Amino acid sequence: MSKTNKIVEDLIRPEIQQMAAYHVPEATGLIKLDAMENPFPWPKAMKEEWLQLLSNVEPNRYPDPSARELITGLRDCFDVPAELGVVLGNGSDELIQLILMAMNDRSAVIAPTPSFVMYQHIANSLGLPFTGVPLNEDFSLNMSAMKAAIKQEDPAVIFLSYPNNPTANLFDDDDLIQILELANGIVVIDEAYQPFACKTFMNRTPDFKNLLVMRTVSKLGLAGLRLGFVVGHPCLTDELEKIRLPYNINVFTQLTATFAFKHIDTLNQQAAVIREQRERLLSGLTSFAGVKVFPSDANFILFSLLSDSAERVFEQLKQAGVLIKKMASNPGLPAECLRVTVGTRSENDLFIEKFASILKQ
Ligand code: PMP
Repeated sequence: MSKTNKIVEDLIRPEIQQMAAYHVPEATGLIKLDAMENPFPWPKAMKEEWLQLLSNVEPNRYPDPSARELITGLRDCFDVPAELGVVLGNGSDELIQLILMAMNDRSAVIAPTPSFVMYQHIANSLGLPFTGVPLNEDFSLNMSAMKAAIKQEDPAVIFLSYPNNPTANLFDDDDLIQILELANGIVVIDEAYQPFACKTFMNRTPDFKNLLVMRTVSKLGLAGLRLGFVVGHPCLTDELEKIRLPYNINVFTQLTATFAFKHIDTLNQQAAVIREQRERLLSGLTSFAGVKVFPSDANFILFSLLSDSAERVFEQLKQAGVLIKKMASNPGLPAECLRVTVGTRSENDLFIEKFASILKQ
């Protein structure tokens, strides 16, 4: 056995050896409707103003470790209650990792299935036991199964994606409140898709000391910045702050996000257009016989093919220049599911046109 193989076998934790790396498909030259990005560029004047500001950045210096200006802008922009703490992450993925890293090594983690795959991926990577609780057929929370799992596992952390990825629905508010009341541990309400659902638990955070509300700016139009934040009672956020790496938010992200928050109206208008486009795309998809379309409160739509192969349709769409997401490997979904991100009007029209001709073949 080579020395490197021996290192892997002897020293890398077995759970990591068994994991597969998170795979991001190559998208060069394709219309990207796979990753829930905002498809709209910034208006020209806004971009020029930003480029001017960027020229003042001194990349030889470390960023402000506390990102004070960014946090001030963020609190204002997202109406974060003054009594709550905020922790920043290099994307909300990093915050999921930070929250789980803070837990002791026997801590159980619970999330519904299907839900955002990183909850389980990161729990596995840290060797924490993960329990996925299947959703009801209509993708609502199965409350008797959730309550039983909470009783049995006494989880340190419960993740609830609101709206849920990949099913696109909001869970019932009363169900979330029951879970918050029942859980002894932390409940993370992940509001990554909040700009498209327009509902939030942020203002409920002062009522629940075990609630962390997590957001990202990725879906709002700033995916390239890698910025997420978590809001909660200071006794929790202060602990997370101790293990956040000091310079995890780089100078370019700090400057750009602070600038973008001053132009939040532009990003909110883009989100409104995406919501309108979502309704067009929903009605376009619903018009096909043999396609079951699930309701959406997010910037993506889940649908299942009743008499066709998702693999075939996915591959043909890709050959036609449109990249969507195959959901084959996601347990708990109906057969032959695909997920499409809402794009611009012309991208959505092109997707529908190609989809129609592929279904006929
Ligand atoms: N939460 C949910 C529910 C998501 O779907 C995603 C990204 N797909 C994230 C968190 C991560 O977002 P980011 O790391 O870009 O902030």
